[in-house]
Amino acid sequence: MIGQDLVARIDTARALLAEAANDYGPAVLASSMGAEDMVLIDLISRDRLPIGIFMLDTGRLHGETLELVERTRARYRIDIDIYRPDPATLDGYIAANGVDAIFTSIDLRKECCRIRKVEPLLRALAGKGSWVTGLRRSQSVTRAGIPEKSWDTDHGLYKFSPLAAWSSDDVWDYIRDRKVPANPLHDKGFVSIGCAPCTRAVRPGEDERAGRWWWENAENRECGLHPGYFERGNP
Ligand code: SF4
Repeated sequence: MIGQDLVARIDTARALLAEAANDYGPAVLASSMGAEDMVLIDLISRDRLPIGIFMLDTGRLHGETLELVERTRARYRIDIDIYRPDPATLDGYIAANGVDAIFTSIDLRKECCRIRKVEPLLRALAGKGSWVTGLRRSQSVTRAGIPEKSWDTDHGLYKFSPLAAWSSDDVWDYIRDRKVPANPLHDKGFVSIGCAPCTRAVRPGEDERAGRWWWENAENRECGLHPGYFERGNP
């Protein structure tokens, strides 16, 4: 059920999305098809905002995530642009290090994220005035200071996180109330869903992003898509 507090947060999120679309265009939503992104897609579609939607297909996503892309396209009648890693760069990395080098060192794991996510993101953001993310402050220790709007010095555009103040319960209350499509992996204990080899279900009491790169320390568990927040601590 959507209570008064959540109604106010929805209004704030809608205002931020409208600001991104109208004052800082062209605006795009970077969607991983996670629960937060599905809320944002629903809000953008309801308000018919001119915000493009894209996702990064790393080549290692779960089948459930790819199936959700098709369900979302059909449900909202929207385009979702797909960006993929440069094939030659990826082939070179795999040839030199093996397909599962991600487990052997943090540097090789981050290089995989750079090739499969960070470089495609740069292409997706080129020429844009703002981008929208589903980051929330309560997701992990690395996200506690996220602002709702900031200048992204790394990518040279404004960055909006309209759900920064939302809790996990807010997200799921919204999804259930408005019957928003969601990844079935959430029902199996997956909270934050990324690439298949780097994501596991989360145990009761664990941090929401404990299932991402779980073999690393908590402060390393980011992929380089948001370096201003997480690696230098200066959004
Ligand atoms: S999440 Fe894992 S598989 Fe995906 S790009 Fe990063 S290291 Fe590679």
